[in-house]
Amino acid sequence: MALILSGQGASRGIGIGRARVLESGGVETPEYTLDPDQIGAEIDRYRAAVAAARGELTVVADRLGPQVASEVREFIETHLMMLEDDALVESPVEFIRARSCNAEWALKQARDQLFAAFEQMQDDYFRARRDDVDQVVKRIAGALANRPARSLFVEEDALDDTVIVADDIEPAELNGLAERGLAAFVIETGGSLSHSSILARSLGVPCVVGVRGARQMVHEGQLLIVDGDRGFALIDPDGERLTRYRERQYEQKRRAMQLLRLADAAARTADGDSIRLWANAEQLKDLDLALRHGAVGIGLFRTEFLYLHRQQPPDEEEQYQSYSDAVKRMHGHPLTLRTLDIGADKQLPLGQDPAEPNPALGLRGIRLSLKFPELFRTQVRAILRAAVHGPVTMLLPMLGGPDDALRARALIREAEGEMRASGTVFQEGVPVGGMIEVPAAAIAAPRMVEILDFVSIGTNDLIQYTLAIDRGNQAVARWYEPLHPAVLRLISSVIDIAVAMGKPVSLCGEMAGDTRYTALLLALGLTDFSLHPRGILELKETLSRLQRKPLLGLKRRILEANGTDEVTEVLKLATG
Ligand code: PEP
Ligand code: MG
Repeated sequence: MALILSGQGASRGIGIGRARVLESGGVETPEYTLDPDQIGAEIDRYRAAVAAARGELTVVADRLGPQVASEVREFIETHLMMLEDDALVESPVEFIRARSCNAEWALKQARDQLFAAFEQMQDDYFRARRDDVDQVVKRIAGALANRPARSLFVEEDALDDTVIVADDIEPAELNGLAERGLAAFVIETGGSLSHSSILARSLGVPCVVGVRGARQMVHEGQLLIVDGDRGFALIDPDGERLTRYRERQYEQKRRAMQLLRLADAAARTADGDSIRLWANAEQLKDLDLALRHGAVGIGLFRTEFLYLHRQQPPDEEEQYQSYSDAVKRMHGHPLTLRTLDIGADKQLPLGQDPAEPNPALGLRGIRLSLKFPELFRTQVRAILRAAVHGPVTMLLPMLGGPDDALRARALIREAEGEMRASGTVFQEGVPVGGMIEVPAAAIAAPRMVEILDFVSIGTNDLIQYTLAIDRGNQAVARWYEPLHPAVLRLISSVIDIAVAMGKPVSLCGEMAGDTRYTALLLALGLTDFSLHPRGILELKETLSRLQRKPLLGLKRRILEANGTDEVTEVLKLATG
């Protein structure tokens, strides 16, 4: 009987291979007190270790090939920045000086202090930063012990059919792994926002995270099946299971290859209606994938990526450069830049109260921009200047109602006026749209649509706020019901109102990319879907099998249904 290790699926797909179990980089921390005359030398020893760690990482950074995922590069840069940060450079030195403790102990205290600060932040993003600190600390500790950092980078052997089992994986270690044929990852720590998860996804390698004690349970060389779809790993599977999973794996690969043929195909329903597929993007490399898979443009570009990993927001010039790069990379396809949507699950030190008691209902999205107009103005100016290079629209997040939309538009007009007066080159008439993701905005849709040039329905938040279900809380996940009658009524009425008023409307929440909901959204009259670029081909295929006209005839019955089961039953009338 195979042993099952369960965790959380972080990167989809099936991986089968032999385990390579990586030992943790951690060692026992020696702790001792120094004589006053030893302190100077100990500080020098610490500084030398930091410099050595920096040197090691610089070598890794220099050796990164061009095919390396941009995340790997970003993480290494983050680690290099941390190796310059006072919290890890000067604080331990202070501890050595003030407490006469040895360098390892001082480093441990500095790390504990940082972790205590992270503990206060109930936030996945900052938990992921905790992993960064831990990895950087281990690197310095390794240098203090004269122990070279664990590295897969220098191994030249192929990793064909290898499953890496580790406590965590450092970005620097990931370079080249996918090209060397790695089968999967089983990681003890982390959730779906942890580095290992993000990187595994960007490499397209199946991964299960949060598998506690994996390194104790798995022996080197044991056969493993990793199911990244369902979030578990099987140790020593029997022949029958192995055959079954190999078949599934083969099927997945065959399907992925088949879907690639749809890259240039138009998105059309079986009865010939054109549907526009837009992509959601979070970083520049998503734009290329979107275009390769045939997206008509970017329906949602989350600009937060520019503001993360730092204490100070980016200035106008940096934003202008970044947005201009994005516009140019779109080669004439439209780009929808959403203004900053920091807050709730993505906190930044931009002036919010870190102890905000209920951040999901707090100062987030457009509210933050209206409270700090200078922050907003800087971003607006950068967007309007970048729009000179190609078609751009601006999207406002978390609008609560007409007043938010009017105030934001007034600030945009003000910025335009200033730029005109100073002779700054910018694009006139950039369309300004709004996210409909707060129920109040959906209920006030007739006014919202009138004020805005286009709207995009953000179902991730619309469902959360309509149903009072925290979208990130596993404990209430079963009540997070996209097919709840209240949610469907809101989506449907926003679409109807926008269509009646002749304004473009799209839907950019996760629902758009989930093919279980494609028939439903067609039935509600949606024609513009915005989704992660990796989902575009599958959606094209699903659309090609659906008849749109009979689905449209089911709208009234769908809106009268009591929930998921009944909606599914009604849809069967048109989908069989
Ligand atoms: C949404 O809420 O549906 C949305 C697309 O925005 P985000 O997921 O960035 O909150
Ligand atoms: Mg949202």
